Amino acid sequence: MSKKTIIVVGSSNTDMIIQLDRIPRPGETILGGEFTSAAGGKGANQAVGAARAGGQVTFIARVGQDMFGDQAVAGFTKEGINADHVTRDPSRPSGVALIFVAKDGENSIAVAGGANGELSPADVKEAANLFAGAGMLVMQLETPLVTVQAAADLAAKAGVRVILNPAPARAIPDQLLKKVSIITPNETEAELLTGIKVDSEAAASNAADKLLARGVKTAIITLGSRGAFVAGDGVGKLVPGFKVKAVDTTAAGDTFNGALAVALVEGKTLENSVRFANAAAAISVTRLGAQTSVPTRREIEELLKNNP
Ligand code: ADP
Repeated sequence: MSKKTIIVVGSSNTDMIIQLDRIPRPGETILGGEFTSAAGGKGANQAVGAARAGGQVTFIARVGQDMFGDQAVAGFTKEGINADHVTRDPSRPSGVALIFVAKDGENSIAVAGGANGELSPADVKEAANLFAGAGMLVMQLETPLVTVQAAADLAAKAGVRVILNPAPARAIPDQLLKKVSIITPNETEAELLTGIKVDSEAAASNAADKLLARGVKTAIITLGSRGAFVAGDGVGKLVPGFKVKAVDTTAAGDTFNGALAVALVEGKTLENSVRFANAAAAISVTRLGAQTSVPTRREIEELLKNNP
């Protein structure tokens, strides 16, 4: 059976991480850190999340004509992701995040979006023929809003469902929300979008209702270890998370979104899709890093089987 494609439009970054005793103060130099670099960026993480969960994925993005861009494209190809629409930007460097992580777990992050900021409506229009017959469009907000809107328009025309992960948090025009099938904010993002502090299940339900009233068909508010509150499509309930030993929650939300897309495209019910996404994300928090922490289909199915 040929699987319907999941199109991911979004960011790709290289995370450069230094672990050290404490975060340097302005003007200060601290020696003795440990350096690691890892592939990241919400768009790329979600593309990898969907590919490892068993999806057939095409990624639309921009990286620079530099070493980081080379590594990013090689990484997508290795994951089986179609990178034909990852454009090499001639004028801007690849997106980079410089991350300090202190012993106590505190972090400090600076992001230079670079080529991500150049991802344009023309880039998605160039891939317009992919939308006909696609199973899902998945987007975040680390690339220009006009580009997100252009992709949502193409999806609407082609009758393709849209998952919007509204991260990083920012206001979203109603015109865009109306084209979103499934919105997946975390607690902070849900509060920014609705003005409701999501500190209980009842509050999550109220915030979800407010999002539905603004035109999205389904609202899924992720609630960290508690799982996710789902509203719409005749459902209104908490789908509990899985009990795991959390080590690093980086890319938990991204893993959730990638896996959610795969399950929905496979025709699983909304509730079972969220359970599948909770399982994938729970595994990701037991491991360090962004794409390094994303589980495979086999691992997700094993967790589901062991927790009926
Ligand atoms: P984000 O990472 O975007 O801030 P959340 O913290 O809500 O989003 O996490 C996204 C999803 O990851 C949750 O809905 C849940 O499925 C899973 N998750 C996050 N933290 C944990 C945890 N400590 N234990 C189990 N699952 C977790």
